[in-house]
Amino acid sequence: MKNYKEFVLHASRAVSILRDMAELSVYDMAADGLALKTARKYAKLAEVFFGSTDSKRLQRESVVLDEERGLSLENLLMIDGHAQKLKKLRGAGWKLRAELIALEGSYEEVNAYGNQRVDELVGEAVKKTGVTISRSKNGMRTFSITDTQRRITDFEKILDVAITSDGPRSQALLDAFWNHVEGGEEGGGLLRPEYRSVIAIGLDDFAKISAGSGDEVIVGLSDGTTMTGAELVNAAIAGAFGGNIYAGLFHPTAGPVNLYEARFASFKQRIMATAENLVCPWPDCGVPADRCQVHHLDAHKNGGQTNPANLTMLCKYHNGVNDDGAQPGCPKKSRRWSRGRMRRHHGTVKLHTPGGKLLENTHDLSTMGAMNLI
Ligand SMILES: [Zn+2]
Repeated sequence: MKNYKEFVLHASRAVSILRDMAELSVYDMAADGLALKTARKYAKLAEVFFGSTDSKRLQRESVVLDEERGLSLENLLMIDGHAQKLKKLRGAGWKLRAELIALEGSYEEVNAYGNQRVDELVGEAVKKTGVTISRSKNGMRTFSITDTQRRITDFEKILDVAITSDGPRSQALLDAFWNHVEGGEEGGGLLRPEYRSVIAIGLDDFAKISAGSGDEVIVGLSDGTTMTGAELVNAAIAGAFGGNIYAGLFHPTAGPVNLYEARFASFKQRIMATAENLVCPWPDCGVPADRCQVHHLDAHKNGGQTNPANLTMLCKYHNGVNDDGAQPGCPKKSRRWSRGRMRRHHGTVKLHTPGGKLLENTHDLSTMGAMNLI
């Protein structure tokens, strides 16, 4: 029974284990034998208990109470799962965590009580108005609007009037919606999109598409989508690309070299950096480059130059967590929370983990960027 006793003892030290995990990158934990998805789950939990929060006091007290009570990782994951459902209610998450951590009872009892509390709290919350648009998945996206019952019902009535088919209501409403937005056969409708997004396309494929034989070619866009050669031609004929077409030159080992026909340096560099990766290059990130920020690989404050090879696009979150390193002459910044930093290695932008690994983003669109075309 010695091994079993040790296992139980270990399980009761979850919060101390999480404290250590808060200092590791998920890729380093994976190298120690954890499944990446397990490492991610624990890292997220470690971030909750040891990362930044608006409820510092409750977080601190919860860690102390956790240590006293010796709750297992499984218990903490369950408790956090309930608290995560209260994300939209300011401060409610940490109150519920503290309440559930203090609650005496089996896993099942605490879980049942957690479900009950979430129902009570979320039931009181009024849905926020707004538009949410999902990421692309298998070529599809979802667009959903939440507003007052009056406005949504009035809009539903407008679409009802415009329904022309007898098919299923969901499809009929969609057709009526697009007729309304695009203006149908009589023209009108809203403004046509003008593509400000960058399209990454190799010279070979460009030649094929120009010759009208590029139907099987698929290109990646920096708005997070893909287009077939035929769609690209149709968009070009409709004038969606405006009057200017730019050509970026990329070297297989040096990275981006130059962009022709661009007037302003900042504009030019942004297009080059966008064409290079199409999505944020941090491993497993899917934020389209159109919504990313220009990032200096060697930080500007440390003397990093503003030239194409030193630039990349990073999403707001990863730009924030990237370890820019200490400024020369300043006391060394604590490495405690380092998640690693982006650097250029053999031409491509990779994450250098605190454990010393170099990782690329393997996202579909990332592998369709300019550096992957050469
Ligand atoms: Zn990112």
